[in-house]
Amino acid sequence: MAIGSRPSTGRPTHAVTNQPPPLEDVNLFATHLPLVEALEREGAGWAGARALDVGAAWGAEPLRWGFAANEHPPRLRTHDRYGHRIDEVEFHPAWHRLMALASEHELHSLPWTTIEAGGHVARAALYLTATQAEAGFACPITMTFAAVPALRTEPAVAAEWEPLLMARGYDGALGPAGAKGSAKCGMAMTEKQGGSDVRANTTVARAVGDGEYLLTGHKWFCSAPMCDLFLVLAQTAAGLSCFALPRILPDGGRNAFHLQRLKDKLGNRSNASAEIELDGAWARSVGEPGRGVATILEMVGHTRLDCVIGSAAGLECLGGNGYVEESGMPRLYREAPLNSVWEGSGNVNALDVLRAIARQPPVLDAFLTEIDLAAGADARLDAFTARLRADLARSDGLEARARRLVEDLALALQGSLLVRHAPPAVADAFCASRLAGDCGYAFGTLPAGVDTAAIVARHTPHLA
Ligand SMILES: Cc1cc2nc3c(=O)[nH]c(=O)nc-3n(C[C@H](O)[C@H](O)[C@H](O)COP(=O)(O)OP(=O)(O)OC[C@H]3O[C@@H](n4cnc5c(N)ncnc54)[C@H](O)[C@@H]3O)c2cc1C
Repeated sequence: MAIGSRPSTGRPTHAVTNQPPPLEDVNLFATHLPLVEALEREGAGWAGARALDVGAAWGAEPLRWGFAANEHPPRLRTHDRYGHRIDEVEFHPAWHRLMALASEHELHSLPWTTIEAGGHVARAALYLTATQAEAGFACPITMTFAAVPALRTEPAVAAEWEPLLMARGYDGALGPAGAKGSAKCGMAMTEKQGGSDVRANTTVARAVGDGEYLLTGHKWFCSAPMCDLFLVLAQTAAGLSCFALPRILPDGGRNAFHLQRLKDKLGNRSNASAEIELDGAWARSVGEPGRGVATILEMVGHTRLDCVIGSAAGLECLGGNGYVEESGMPRLYREAPLNSVWEGSGNVNALDVLRAIARQPPVLDAFLTEIDLAAGADARLDAFTARLRADLARSDGLEARARRLVEDLALALQGSLLVRHAPPAVADAFCASRLAGDCGYAFGTLPAGVDTAAIVARHTPHLA
């Protein structure tokens, strides 16, 4: 059935009533009122018309591409028919369409290319809008966006790759990036010994002069392996270091980057995640040798931002319809747990927050100053923030309390933003349930007295 055609409702056996219209041919930006308001409020109003275009585009055909790309997941092609090693992944055309549209809309580049202030805000809004249609393609798009700050630590490498990574074109074939005119970037840190503790990496890099190295070892998770460039961690005499490793060598040959297997994943099935082996693969050093973790964290910090803005949803309110594949909800559910693992697990992120506060106390002051912008506006928020301040001041059992503290920091910030900017019904429900504790542990346990009608009205998409 083409989008827009109307199915017949009358059947000889029964009439189809009380079923919602399909959520398609919908502007995914315009129907997301909190996002529309936030774009203006957070200083990227200039991107409003653009966000409307992106919302209209992604609410139409890409919804179908997302289904097709998941129904026809990527396939590994290790060899060609004559037995030559090729190490390629074959994707359904729908995947390439998603990648091309995301690139055209600059989801991978906007903050680094725009001259306007608020580029990150604008991109976050476009990204959040587009990934409602499908999330799998976002992995290489995010990594390409996030690679830029890390690459800039090595100006010669950045000068060569940044223009290609920032290009609005897309060519999914494995070939010389210069000839394609565009490139995508991935990263390979995690090894079998553990992803959280990358210092245990065993991949070694042997210097061959002039900032060039040959890398030997394995990587246990390497997503989007058809990217043109990878930031890779490997051990050198100076310690763990970061490298830029292209899939195609400067002479046009293939680098020794071998795909062993694709992961059979719970979700994120339109995207490929590979186990790879590096057999003397050519790479160039990026950043200070021995400071590989610090260098690649420039990238990881930005990929984590996208984990935060990635989608999450409640299924129960859709009833049984939400449980069938055609609703798109199963895909979101399979995708959802991934954001608490793949850019550093929840524990590791929480410990990183404690580390940042200990090393640079002004970051906490800045955070609390932002929360305090709502001081006096809601007694429940004030009480919650006072408790949080007291908890932060205690030094006992900090690591054991890390997740609770970070959760409370997030709740206080959410409360402050909602009290200042959201309609009263939304802020009131949040403060009552999340901050004052008037809720249960299960879905749907808001206290009586919440203005649910106003909240539902605000979030109901209005279809043409
Ligand atoms: C679909 C998918 C795609 C991925 N793509 C990539 C990719 O492209 N490139 C890449 O490099 N990696 C990739 N990863 C790997 C990802 O970064 C790791 O899975 C992640 O860092 C966790 O590492 P691990 O799996 O080895 O788990 P572990 O490090 O073994 O962690 C297991 C558990 O132990 C806990 N833990 C570990 N250390 C500590 C500690 N010090 N304190 C408290 N708790 C701790 C963790 O919180 C977690 O709950 C991908 C993962 C997935 C699932």
